[in-house]
Amino acid sequence: MVDEIRKDIFERSVIVSALRSKRPGAFIDKKSKEKACPFCPGNERKTEKTLLAIPDEKHWNVRVFKNKFPVLHQRNFKPIVEDFFSRYTPCGAHEILIETRKHDRDYSDMRTDEISLIIEALKQRYVELMKIPDVNYVTIFKNKGIRAGASLSHPHMQIIAAHLFPDVISREMGESESFFKKEKKCGQCLMMKSELRLRERLVTHNKDWVVITPFVSKWPYQVAMLPRRHFSEISEINEEEIANLAKVIKKTFHGYSKLFDDPPYNIMYHNFPKSDFWHFHISVYPRLVTHAGFEFFGLNVNITSPEHATRELRKVVK
Ligand SMILES: [Zn+2]
Ligand SMILES: [Zn+2]
Repeated sequence: MVDEIRKDIFERSVIVSALRSKRPGAFIDKKSKEKACPFCPGNERKTEKTLLAIPDEKHWNVRVFKNKFPVLHQRNFKPIVEDFFSRYTPCGAHEILIETRKHDRDYSDMRTDEISLIIEALKQRYVELMKIPDVNYVTIFKNKGIRAGASLSHPHMQIIAAHLFPDVISREMGESESFFKKEKKCGQCLMMKSELRLRERLVTHNKDWVVITPFVSKWPYQVAMLPRRHFSEISEINEEEIANLAKVIKKTFHGYSKLFDDPPYNIMYHNFPKSDFWHFHISVYPRLVTHAGFEFFGLNVNITSPEHATRELRKVVK
């Protein structure tokens, strides 16, 4: 079967990828030998060639390479429309970013300068991938743990560059833009100011970043990390903001590991090409509960109020 992206008349899209089914099904857990892990140092040959290594290929702390089982590939973008059904060639790129040499680390036990290197690498790859003709959007995310969809346990992130915007981003983008057109202000900037004043959903903050449990949290202990300065994509982040983001990431994940003993989680970086209405942010979803049928309708039942989650997190976010 040929890989393709499908879109219907309601603007719903999906990537159909047969190649993905060939990726390793066996989850290599923390305790298994580092020898078996293709992401551990010394096993670089088991992966595709290095695209970025910091500080260098031999002594890397962060390493980026092409995914062996990409959902999107470098090829020309071509739409084929039949009646109500649009198909597109899966043009783009799919990369893996190894966050550390150490097989069993998480943000809570990494140094902040190590976390900074990850953010710096994400920024560099984002800038590079946005240069590819036909690429309009770069998705950055992390799955940790089997329950969060990771197939390998070595700390890693995924970067997917695509022609089309993911559905969630398209929707958020439309909502943010219409708010901006009405109010002439970024909605997230306004909400952030309120959260800093009200403080009941404020988990932690520093000079550059604010971490909150969103008022409409869909999942227990979900948090959002927002820069105080308005910018819309990771390419705009400066050095000091990187260092301060690393600090709130470490603190927040230290809190999660205290409360839930190393929980599985998903992280999404919400970027949007330079705009006044879109506010860059990072969403973190600890996977403490599983999906139930009702959530597929888009109306989640959250068993922990964000205010309660904030109170609990504040006790351990240090
Ligand atoms: Zn490993
Ligand atoms: Zn803003």
